[in-house]
Amino acid sequence: MRDTPLLSVRDLKKHYPIGGGLFSRESGVARAVDGISFDIHPGETLGLVGESGCGKSTAARSIVRLEEPTDGEVIFNGGDRDPAVSDDDDTHPNDITRFGRRELNSFRREVQMIFQDPSSSFDPRMTAGDAVAEPLFVHGMADEEQRRTIVEDLLERVGLSAADRDKYPHELSGGQKQRLALARALVLNPELVIADEPVSALDVSIQAEVLSLIDDLQTEFDLSLLFISHDI
Ligand code: ADP
Ligand code: MG
Repeated sequence: MRDTPLLSVRDLKKHYPIGGGLFSRESGVARAVDGISFDIHPGETLGLVGESGCGKSTAARSIVRLEEPTDGEVIFNGGDRDPAVSDDDDTHPNDITRFGRRELNSFRREVQMIFQDPSSSFDPRMTAGDAVAEPLFVHGMADEEQRRTIVEDLLERVGLSAADRDKYPHELSGGQKQRLALARALVLNPELVIADEPVSALDVSIQAEVLSLIDDLQTEFDLSLLFISHDI
């Protein structure tokens, strides 16, 4: 139903203690994110725009629980999540902020992140193909041939070539690394992609082509997109 959001963020807060050394009392908090709310519907793109330092990345990391939110709710109606995966009996079964380990695991199949810095996103000792195949392996696809077929197909769909699977990250340009990051993000067929300034670190000359690729992939994979930028 169009009216059911895929993701609902309600009054999300993330505060960090500041000041105060080991033996002194906490002297205050940095309100990195102080009560944001929004909805994203299936297939929709939502832009989260604000100046540098206003808390966009902190919000993104809190939504996917790379950091623990201080307060608020993050409700995800991720389609056919298996009720057997539920770890607890609370009254907010879709509230990510209350997910246990198994629920988080399942949720992380459906929501993927792309980060600003394509260089720090990859293990320098892992080939491009292995980087894209890893989530498949982690989530239980044991057949190597099957993984290879999926990886080669995805590399081509993001504008790389199947032969690039044997390259190491340092052999790829910044734009190619962001293409690879997209391939890795899409390999588990997620419902939502959170892209945190995905082109800000790229040469201006290639920003437009990566943005247009994201646009095409969103349609092709029927994705919802949370697009974070400091620049409208
Ligand atoms: P943006 O992505 O919008 O540029 P961030 O989310 O990175 O902003 O940071 C928001 C604010 O939170 C900044 O003032 C930053 O210094 C602060 N901050 C981020 N992470 C931490 C942390 N781990 N500890 C303390 N303060 C932090
Ligand atoms: Mg940021």
